[in-house]
Amino acid sequence: MKQFDSAQTGNTDVRISRRAAIGIGSTIAAGMLLEMDLFAAPAQRKVVVVWSEGTANVDPASKQVYPDDINTAIAEGLKPLQSKGWEIVTASLNDPDQGISDELLQRTYVLIWWGHKKHRDVKDELVSKIEKRVKDQGMGFIATHSAHFSKPLKQLLGTPCSWREYVADGTSAEIIVKEPKHPICKGVKNFNLPKIERYGEPFAVPTPESVPLDGLYTRPDGQAQSGRMGLCWTVGKGKVFYFTPGHETYPDYYRPQVRQIFVNAVLWAAPKQIA
Ligand code: ZN
Repeated sequence: MKQFDSAQTGNTDVRISRRAAIGIGSTIAAGMLLEMDLFAAPAQRKVVVVWSEGTANVDPASKQVYPDDINTAIAEGLKPLQSKGWEIVTASLNDPDQGISDELLQRTYVLIWWGHKKHRDVKDELVSKIEKRVKDQGMGFIATHSAHFSKPLKQLLGTPCSWREYVADGTSAEIIVKEPKHPICKGVKNFNLPKIERYGEPFAVPTPESVPLDGLYTRPDGQAQSGRMGLCWTVGKGKVFYFTPGHETYPDYYRPQVRQIFVNAVLWAAPKQIA
């Protein structure tokens, strides 16, 4: 622990500073103390954690696309946030504490979640801590693609969060900016995904407060089918966003438009104040 971290050491500093300040004047002494306090506190940076379950970089079908896992690909796309005072952290189910220690969670402003095959491995205790952090303290939560079935999203929304169908048959999609003035759509224009896993409506979630992104699938037989692509809720004090694309065999998380959406979503979901 650094010397400035403990209250006891802090008091010693106060005494030294006062002694040093004899004859200088209390105003300057106070200034010195203030300066010390600034150095004492670690820089308060907003933390976004990108979590994934550590399967996309292992499975033969997807490891070519995401050799460093999906959390790393999403985190790379968030780099523009660094100049705005954000710290970007990647976390994995394989890490100690399943990637989310109490200490890290307590510093996290926004948690991004990608999972597919290991939802059940996530400990209920961790899920409850995440739920509390969102509802009571205002942390933002972003789930993407197959994380619709993740324990944290289901617990936050309180519904099965299932889609009617899941079909990877060569379907393509247009992602449509439905609410151009929504913060999540800032700088985003309609774009196409040449391949997408089709998640058929209805989506068993509570009525969202907004749907900034809509979508139009084109099936291989030429038939069009609509499906929501970006949905927003407020849960307790926290904001929740779900983004539909992101199947592990498609390079969606490298696409500039998708990366822009994630940057926007982090800024939207971030609490103004956090406990
Ligand atoms: Zn998928």
